[in-house]
Amino acid sequence: MKNEKLIIIAAPSGSGKTTIVKELLLLNDLNLGFSISSTTRAKRKNEIDGKDYNFISVADFKEKIQNDDFIEWEEVYKNVYYGTEKSEIQKLNSEGKSIVFDIDVVGGLNLKKQFPKTSVSIFIRPPSLIELKKRLMDRKTESQESIEFRLDKAIKELEYSNKYDFVIVNDNLELAIKEVKNIIYQFSKNH
Ligand code: 5GP
Repeated sequence: MKNEKLIIIAAPSGSGKTTIVKELLLLNDLNLGFSISSTTRAKRKNEIDGKDYNFISVADFKEKIQNDDFIEWEEVYKNVYYGTEKSEIQKLNSEGKSIVFDIDVVGGLNLKKQFPKTSVSIFIRPPSLIELKKRLMDRKTESQESIEFRLDKAIKELEYSNKYDFVIVNDNLELAIKEVKNIIYQFSKNH
């Protein structure tokens, strides 16, 4: 792959990452394209198959692993798989787009390792774990068990934040979006 530009946005679940990514995609002057991941988790009510994710079965996911279709994949939660297909990156790259990834913390580092010079990695940090729990509960998309899982995972993920190029604390959403936009403008200017 040549000339690719990767914008890796990672955060513990509930940190506001998806909202930030959606805002970024509204920027017209940067020619950004969203990398649609494949996942085996159930579709949420507000999601569209093929736009938010490609929702596939565990069997199909495992077949894609066998075929080496993924540039990275993770069993993010027990028996719930998420991955980025190579074809997705190739497609967006051939369209001349800078590719935006909404990805889990370990997956983001994995991508960074594969594209050290042509990527920028940004970690979105919640102001606190208490606030993170509140956001996950307010979202009303997760069961109690899923909330507990996500919180446990978040504690581990926060330890990886210093491996990212930038860490943005999402205390004030508007401000966080502004900071992320500035990083991307700077990155686009230099690559
Ligand atoms: P959610 O179920 O809340 O949509 O996503 C759970 C986590 O999986 C989030 O941190 C999200 O960014 C991450 N995720 C989404 N797509 C991918 C992917 O392709 N690879 C990896 N490693 N994580 C992903």
